Amino acid sequence: MSLIVAIDGPAGSGKGTITKQVGEKLGLINIDTGATFRCVALNMIQDGIQINQENRIKAMIDKIHIDMKENGRVFLNGEEVTKRIRENDVNNFVSPVSVIKIVRDKLLDIQREIAQGKNVIIEGRDIGTVVFPNADVKIYLDASQEERAKRRVKQNQEKGITTSYEEVLKNIIDRDKRDSTREIAPLKQAEDAIYIDSTNMTIEEVVNKIVGIIKERGVNQK
Ligand code: C5P
Repeated sequence: MSLIVAIDGPAGSGKGTITKQVGEKLGLINIDTGATFRCVALNMIQDGIQINQENRIKAMIDKIHIDMKENGRVFLNGEEVTKRIRENDVNNFVSPVSVIKIVRDKLLDIQREIAQGKNVIIEGRDIGTVVFPNADVKIYLDASQEERAKRRVKQNQEKGITTSYEEVLKNIIDRDKRDSTREIAPLKQAEDAIYIDSTNMTIEEVVNKIVGIIKERGVNQK
């Protein structure tokens, strides 16, 4: 029997860090669905494909190969892109790419395939609503836009990527708007998800809270 924990929320809400730590504490495999969208965006940048070139997108997506390995390493068509997919050109392109129906359809299959038969903690925007509506535990993680921008700048710094606060905040505001107003699978809290506002919480507090929720439901024994 597999266990599915769904963590949804906007850019910079801390999903990545928190999902990883909760996964480590409970022995769950961590799946970052945002990275799959980032890979598609990067592939389009590499091949010079525009948003409106549907035929070229279809040809590219039919042969795309995305792999996730230990420690969050991401591979696109055999090449490691873990760091590359966090750069600004990808940040700015990924949201419009994620509204394309053929992209979402293909990634839905890939995401379900990766999770099949495993105990997973999976983070994204539409995991509790669309990808795994029957997930055992659903969390919606939020924080103020300013706090999320601050966290992203710091996170980028740690990865050796220099970005300005203003630029990151603008990107977050734009992405929130696009992600929550798009027609297919918008960013939205599932009705049965537990809402956590992490603005004034430390990472450790959020991690402990989520670990507690998973244990409380008695599903950690599955
Ligand atoms: O989580 P991350 O910031 O890496 O996600 C990058 C982008 O991928 C988001 O801004 C969103 O447009 C898209 N995305 C999505 N559905 C998901 C995960 C990410 O549309 N499940």
